[in-house]
Amino acid sequence: MRAILTDICEGRGRPGDIELLERICHTMQDVSLCALGRTAPNPVLTTIRFFRDEYEAHIERKECPAGVCPDLTRFTINAEACTGCGMCSRVCPANAISGEVKTAHVIDPDKCIACGSCREACRFDAVETMRRMPA
Ligand code: SF4
Ligand code: SF4
Repeated sequence: MRAILTDICEGRGRPGDIELLERICHTMQDVSLCALGRTAPNPVLTTIRFFRDEYEAHIERKECPAGVCPDLTRFTINAEACTGCGMCSRVCPANAISGEVKTAHVIDPDKCIACGSCREACRFDAVETMRRMPA
């Protein structure tokens, strides 16, 4: 299950993965001898149940709607919304953001590790996410 989920999060999901996960989960529930084994698949089944459209987006379109899977997400700064306050560059752990005070800042995609810290720090909603195109 972990390998399948990792593949989905990293853009290698394949058609049928959701159904395969469900089969594995139900098999674990049916054959596990202890309660831990029977309940371990619950997080996977629950997320499929409530967020199936997100699984499908990852698998079919290689998109992460929540913008949290680094391999599927690219962070950018909307120059029109950016005030140049510099908060994002101060919190960036990869030193990926540059820009002068009071001018629009820019993210270097080659340095960005898609941690999301800049989006959390920006009070002007200027940090946006977009689909990362396959190399
Ligand atoms: S925190 Fe937001 S407004 Fe401030 S420089 Fe960064 S992107 Fe621009
Ligand atoms: S997502 Fe993280 S690494 Fe990328 S620019 Fe923002 S703070 Fe820096």
